Amino acid sequence: MTYLKDLKLTDNFWLHEFFDSAEWVRFMKLPEEQRLFLIISLGQVAAALQEHVRDYFRKKTIITDGMRFKASGDGTSFHHSGKAADFKVEGVHHRTVQDRLNLIYPGGIGSYNAHTHLDIRHLFGWPVRARWTGKSQ
Ligand SMILES: [Zn+2]
Repeated sequence: MTYLKDLKLTDNFWLHEFFDSAEWVRFMKLPEEQRLFLIISLGQVAAALQEHVRDYFRKKTIITDGMRFKASGDGTSFHHSGKAADFKVEGVHHRTVQDRLNLIYPGGIGSYNAHTHLDIRHLFGWPVRARWTGKSQ
């Protein structure tokens, strides 16, 4: 299954970019069917990032937090089910990125002072255009 490390989801995003090393180990221990569900979800997150961020700003887009398996007491987060990513765009101010996404993106956008959160909740029956601001940790 080492080929998964090289799985490209879109023109500019690879599957492994959505995992830190500990989360990747957890991912690889899952049954294949569960891994496939996550790959499909993360593929949709990657497609949203590709269309609305990477292709628009034409700058390297760095995922700072992607898949995060749920630990007890973690609450709910679209990161737990592979439906979200936090990211930065190299050379573009986070406010510029957030202003654009707040305007046009149909899913969830969280505006933080050091990153932007994007999720695909609208594809799973959640209310569209969720918006919030917060402080980055
Ligand atoms: Zn997030």
